[in-house]
Amino acid sequence: MSIKENLRTIKMSLPGHITLVAVSKTKTPAEIMQAYEAGQRDFGENKVQEMNRKWEALPRDIRWHMIGHLQRNKVKDIVPYVSLIHGVDSLRLLQEINRRAAQNGRVVSCLLQVHIAREESKFGFDDQELQGVIPSAEFRGLGHVKVEGFMGMATFTKDEDRIREEFRHLKSIYDHWKQQLPGLQTLSMGMSSDYRIAIEEGSTMVRIGSSIFGARNYD
Ligand SMILES: *Cc1c(COP(=O)(O)O)cnc(C)c1O
Repeated sequence: MSIKENLRTIKMSLPGHITLVAVSKTKTPAEIMQAYEAGQRDFGENKVQEMNRKWEALPRDIRWHMIGHLQRNKVKDIVPYVSLIHGVDSLRLLQEINRRAAQNGRVVSCLLQVHIAREESKFGFDDQELQGVIPSAEFRGLGHVKVEGFMGMATFTKDEDRIREEFRHLKSIYDHWKQQLPGLQTLSMGMSSDYRIAIEEGSTMVRIGSSIFGARNYD
């Protein structure tokens, strides 16, 4: 199946309120253009340099999503144009995004990454850290970032009950904080292998790569 056909099939299966981020990491500008020509505008990358190169080469109405782990010293390279930063996992990173966004006269939309997988290796805040950060004066005082939701990744497993339980946990965190931050509107959860479960559990944004573009050559 072609990229266009894959994209159409997935889009038809998504409820209307779900935003599809096409994860184009490792894929060429020509491959991205196939999805673009089929109407796709949201693309996700996980490396700053690679996203910069693609931003320069591709149409300006693409909305670029940084979905990978972001280092503070790289923030300045994407802040001028990035549409949404999914993986914010510390207050210091958020403060750096705020500082650079102010320099650029922008308000940059961000998602806080929450650690929901039981695996050790995944980045993100846990419940307790969120309770420390979100009510803090430092967090509340950030005028150039808009924290509009949360992002999470489930454990890499075939155990669907476990994946569902982890997504449900993130949804409950989202619902909890939404009462205090009415601006929350985005729950980024679900990738090729688990987006159907994520949507059933309340996702509003899915990040899908290999089901659109085919397997990646390297990661
Ligand atoms: C690569 C990646 C995806 C997409 O993964 P697929 O399995 O190819 O759909 C989603 N989210 C993040 C954070 C990723 O790094």
